[in-house]
Amino acid sequence: MNWEQVISKKVQDIPPSGIRKFFDLVSEVDDVISLGVGEPDHVTPWHVREAAYYSLEKGHTMYTSNYGLLELREEINKYLESSFGVDYNPDDQILVTVGVSEAVDLALRTLLEEGDELLLPEPSYVSYQPAAQLTGADVVKVPTKQENNFKLDPKELEKAITSQSKVLILCYPNNPTGAVMSEDELKEIAALVKKHDLFVLADEIYAELTYDDSYTSFASLDGMKERTVLLNGFSKAYAMTGWRIGYAAAPEPIINAMMKIHQYTMLCAPIVSQNAALEALRNGNQEKDKMVKSYKQRRNVIVKGLNEIGLDCFKPKGAFYVFPSIKSTGLSSEEFAQRLLQEEGVVVIPGNVFGESGEGFIRCSYASSLENIYEALNRMERFIEQL
Ligand code: PLP
Repeated sequence: MNWEQVISKKVQDIPPSGIRKFFDLVSEVDDVISLGVGEPDHVTPWHVREAAYYSLEKGHTMYTSNYGLLELREEINKYLESSFGVDYNPDDQILVTVGVSEAVDLALRTLLEEGDELLLPEPSYVSYQPAAQLTGADVVKVPTKQENNFKLDPKELEKAITSQSKVLILCYPNNPTGAVMSEDELKEIAALVKKHDLFVLADEIYAELTYDDSYTSFASLDGMKERTVLLNGFSKAYAMTGWRIGYAAAPEPIINAMMKIHQYTMLCAPIVSQNAALEALRNGNQEKDKMVKSYKQRRNVIVKGLNEIGLDCFKPKGAFYVFPSIKSTGLSSEEFAQRLLQEEGVVVIPGNVFGESGEGFIRCSYASSLENIYEALNRMERFIEQL
């Protein structure tokens, strides 16, 4: 079979995932400590799991409305309103999706087509580029820098804008850097969004995981709600990665358009997960706050430890990643990560996986026990000393 003729050109053109390639190596090494995965090391709180059991017991095993359970959409709206001051109509401005991942895909397919340009601050989460590529749009990278704590610099953004620019992706707190933008900094971005008539995809999946300042949702800024698709979900804040549940909130015509795809591809998010998410929003604050507290403590330990062993690391204000520079070692980020794995059994992700501007850095996830973090730091210190 000539598979090149069978598989679409657009799919062939998606490069292999750097993360997957790296995890393939992990299986070959014993006694591994992983700072690699971007998912909570906590299990979903018991009361949330229990709500899922009860819903099954009651026989809730059917499709829901394509939009998701109305009760859940109402609760999502209450949460967005009380936490961030943004208010949506649960009837037609909120869509429950199969994780934020589905929502990213739906939103990009809804907004982009050939000839359009997507503005993508880099280093960036790995799914945006391939999802955009499948729409036929061009991806224009906007580099962010360590000197600026990996925040999006409005001057760099404006330099990248052309008459074809249509959508800007914002992901704060950021994966992979942990960067968070303040309200004033976001207002400068909002001014450019307005000036150049852009639309924003705001992936706010880490909004609950901030450690120092209060969080500003981009849609809450003056005039931005009508230009933003707000994405959020349950994977990170409530330790629910395996439940596959998230949502999009946006003006009704956008949700309506996203729905055109969702109703034929997913129909709806799984009802068990929707019931669990409802419980998480209603009664999950205490457990969530405990998890956030644990991440904050780990962040403080890992940032201090990395700087002490000579890896220059800024103190990120959110998510559960640090993004230290490994330039002092003279190794490329791939060499560093590969050798650290093979010589000391510590998994970190090479920064270049998140785009060219991630070269010279590694991503370490601190969604791992303090014990693991201390041991990983010891091993990294030994690794650096032996270089
Ligand atoms: N957006 C970002 C920035 C992420 O880091 C992730 C997962 O790592 C996702 C979206 C995917 O989230 P979900 O599990 O809700 O699909």
